[in-house]
Parts: sequence; C-alpha cells; structure tokens
Amino acid sequence: MKKIGEKLVIATHNDGKLREIRDLLAPFGIDCVSAKELDLPDPEETGVTFVDNAELKARQAADLSGLPALADDSGLAVDALRGDPGIRSARWAEDADGNRDFGRAMQKVWDAVEAEGPDAGHDAHFVCALSLAWPDGRIETFEGKVHGHLTWPPRGDKGFGYDPMFIAKGMEQTFAEIEPDHKHSISHRADAFKQLVAWLEA
Ligand code: IMP
Repeated sequence: MKKIGEKLVIATHNDGKLREIRDLLAPFGIDCVSAKELDLPDPEETGVTFVDNAELKARQAADLSGLPALADDSGLAVDALRGDPGIRSARWAEDADGNRDFGRAMQKVWDAVEAEGPDAGHDAHFVCALSLAWPDGRIETFEGKVHGHLTWPPRGDKGFGYDPMFIAKGMEQTFAEIEPDHKHSISHRADAFKQLVAWLEA
C-alpha cells in the first residue's frame, strides 16, 4: 500500500479496537502493530475536540516509532448538553478510583438532560475521529458521525458504553439491541473508516 507502506502502528492499548482495525486493513496488505506491543506510552488526552485527541495520539505514536500511525477518539455528544459528555465520554463513567460504570454514566447523562427542562429534546450523535500521522509531519484526519436520539430507560445488552440509551435515526431499537454487525455497518466508527478506506483507494 503505497500511501502507508508495509507497516502501521495502531495507537491504542485497547485489544478490541486493534482487532477491529486489523480486520479492516487486512485487504490492503498492511501489517499492523499496536502501541501496546511496541511499549509506547498512552498519551494524556489534552485536546478539546475529538480531532485534537485523535491527532495527538497518532502524532506521538508516529514520532516515537518512526512509522506511520493510526489513532481514533470517539464519544457521545448530546445536543441539549451542548455536546457533553463529548471527549469526556469515558470519564463520565469513572468513579473516584477510576473504575468505569456505564450504567452510572447513562444515568448522569439522562439526569443532565432532564435538568435542562421539558423542551430540551433528546437529539444526540456519536462521533469518531480517525487520524493517520507520518513521521515526516504529514497528518490526515477523518471524522465519522451517526445521528439519533436518547431513550430512557436503557435497553439491550449487545453493545458497550452508551449503546443501550442511543437509537440511530430511522430505527426503533437501541445500539445495544441490534446485532453487532448491523451496528458496525452504520456506526460513527464505520463512517470514519469508510472515509479512510476511500482515501486509501483514491
Ligand atoms: P475512546 O475513544 O476509547 O476514548 O472511547 C470514548 C468513550 O466513548 C467510550 O468509553 C464510550 O463510553 C464512548 N463510546 C465511543 N464509541 C461508542 C459506541 O460505539 N457506543 C457506545 N459508547 C461509545
């Protein structure tokens, strides 16, 4: 693959993400190695947007490894909360000891929306920013989205994170009730990857 070369660092310490990205890039004959396998540090996500954070993770991995690197950053943005929890989607689930509980995070989101009053509306979208950085300083970033609305109480046990309270536009079931293959074909992550693959093929 001439745009990337033979080897690509996947700037994640998450094995699930690594597997998904490896599968996706397999047709391009790119050998993927993770930041974890290379013992690269997990950078602090100091950006104020999804794009900032995806770019800083990809940039650091490319600089430290001397190889092209791919990173993503994702989360849930609720209109009535002016985009929150946004880049803090994982942090909203953490207690004081850093343990994550998405039941608690979903309750927090719903309570915050209710506190906005009866006219607040339930529109929300998931975002996924995907950045590809090269050691020579080049960077390409793609941003995927899926629009929908929040529902309460949460339903379904197939997904993760905020999936049980999110219904994509035109659907009736939550992201945690539909089959994972279905979710993966319409999600924010799928949208960002489609843009990346289109760019690789162009
Ligand atoms: P990160 O990109 O790994 O930092 O993930 C950010 C957080 O956003 C995750 O911990 C989830 O809470 C949330 N999130 C990202 N994508 C999804 C999704 O597809 N479904 C549900 N929650 C998600």
